[in-house]
Amino acid sequence: MATIIDGKAVAFEVVASVAKEVATLVEQGLQRPGLAVVLVGDDAASQVYVRNKIRTSEQAGITSIEHRLAADVSQQTLLTLIDELNASDQVNGILVQLPLPDGLDEKLILERISPAKDVDGFHPMNVGALSSGLPSLVPCTPQGCLIMLQQQLGDLSGKHAVVVGRSNIVGKPMAALLLQQSCTVTVVHSRTKNIEQLCAQADILVAAVGRPEMVKASWLKEGAVVIDVGINAQEVDGKRKLVGDVDFADCLAKVSAITPVPGGVGPMTIACLMQNTLIAAKRQLGFSGN
Ligand code: NDP
Repeated sequence: MATIIDGKAVAFEVVASVAKEVATLVEQGLQRPGLAVVLVGDDAASQVYVRNKIRTSEQAGITSIEHRLAADVSQQTLLTLIDELNASDQVNGILVQLPLPDGLDEKLILERISPAKDVDGFHPMNVGALSSGLPSLVPCTPQGCLIMLQQQLGDLSGKHAVVVGRSNIVGKPMAALLLQQSCTVTVVHSRTKNIEQLCAQADILVAAVGRPEMVKASWLKEGAVVIDVGINAQEVDGKRKLVGDVDFADCLAKVSAITPVPGGVGPMTIACLMQNTLIAAKRQLGFSGN
């Protein structure tokens, strides 16, 4: 029987452990960590994500500071806000919710965030540090996937991991994290020729593609552990339904463990944001390590 990995339960443990450490900091008279969340425009999905992040901050004991800006805000106003947040003692982490409305230069804006407060782990300094094995703030989604894999499998060393997708926010950092764990890593993408044969070699398969139910049981090795990052909205019988990049029903009998959508990677992403805010706050307070 395959294990259905309960991302909500693992996320609950991560947030509880962050909350415990935050309480210890506060007991010691140190400042409660603060997370600034910047939302530009009124994209409905972004509003839901931001609401969830703020609610989870409360559970973790992290102060969240929300900044809502109109969709037509000027780039300079947004950059000035980031400069203020970079300089603020109350703010340990800064998150700019993506995607940004047209007309704003996402790259320029993300690069303006101080690497020390870059809790999304998207700044080139953090990307480079991760690739070099140096202390960094690691992107939340792949970090959440790694925690679930380690809980499921323990030591990952020597496993063959196939990552489907090579985006900067999921696929590439996922590959870097798995390599750090001494996995043999294959990254496949839209130009890969023999994707099914490569996936069939995977002890671990992470799908981050954005194509509904693309990965089928016939692609998998018997007993593989499958992490489904995809979130795809579909209309089924007039109702909105979320499905992953993996055909869950088809794959269930073939895998040893699999994450569901929803309730798998999604909650872990937010839990890891809390963990990153705590790590950033502790480093800013002068603690070494994580
Ligand atoms: P991107 O669109 O940035 O990247 C998708 C990747 O998949 C690209 O590397 C692309 O290849 C590859 N790809 C696309 N089509 C195919 C195909 N037919 N065969 C093989 N590879 C293909 O997406 P993201 O990485 O940002 O997100 C991926 C999914 O994960 C989305 O569904 C997104 O909603 C979800 N997501 C979920 C999160 C969570 O918290 N659960 C967080 C972030 C994302 P190429 O580079 O060649 O174009």
